[in-house]
Amino acid sequence: MLRVCASGMSDVGRSRRHNEDCFEIDPELRLYLVADGMGGHRFGEVASRMAVTAIQSHVRSAGEPSPEAAGGRRGDLLVAAFAVAHERVLGAIQRDADLTGMGTTLVGLLLDDWSGSIAHVGDSRAYRLRQERFELLTQDHTWVHEQVAAGYLSEEQARVHPLKNVVTRALGGEGEMRVDLRPVDVRPGDRYLLCSDGLTTMLTDEEIAGRLAASVSVAEICRGLVTDANARGGHDNVTVVVIAVEGEDPERE
Ligand code: CA
Repeated sequence: MLRVCASGMSDVGRSRRHNEDCFEIDPELRLYLVADGMGGHRFGEVASRMAVTAIQSHVRSAGEPSPEAAGGRRGDLLVAAFAVAHERVLGAIQRDADLTGMGTTLVGLLLDDWSGSIAHVGDSRAYRLRQERFELLTQDHTWVHEQVAAGYLSEEQARVHPLKNVVTRALGGEGEMRVDLRPVDVRPGDRYLLCSDGLTTMLTDEEIAGRLAASVSVAEICRGLVTDANARGGHDNVTVVVIAVEGEDPERE
């Protein structure tokens, strides 16, 4: 099995009163999640935590990763877990009308040996740094991203646009909950970043890549990213999970 080192950090930022983001790192399942909740009062917090917990327990119910279970089936498992989480949030809203409108974005990485699956809904993102190449692995489900794709806005205009927070898909939201799934190959030396938009609206991709490339611990990278987002204004909750793939682990063979 690959040896993997991961760390996460979530911060309320400089202008919000509550932190509606959350993250989860499960080294046994090799599951990593970032969620960014939305809803009135403190219900965003409820939605993001509920969704993350539901995904973790659904993946756990399928057992630990094994070579036999690698590949597409693990990706399908992650998508199925998102669907379970969606139903869980909708169920809570049905039981308590005060919760109407609560929902959450979600981005998850489920690692196998030498491969992984990235699933997401909304505008929380996954990036990968592989040697010199820093790559965005997800496409935001936002109105501004649609404008970029259509050629009406540049990436930089989208990053600071007043409507940048309008998501077109969310877990727990109304309408269809469609998950984007992306299989990835995994190599020693890869660094993956999962983050909420509180990071990516404050910092450019170049700035994020600089932090991710530093020769420091994953915990230090997380602290640096959160510090940078807050130094830039910290307009939103900011959450990061950094996963460093270090190579074969002989003890897990
Ligand atoms: Ca946010």
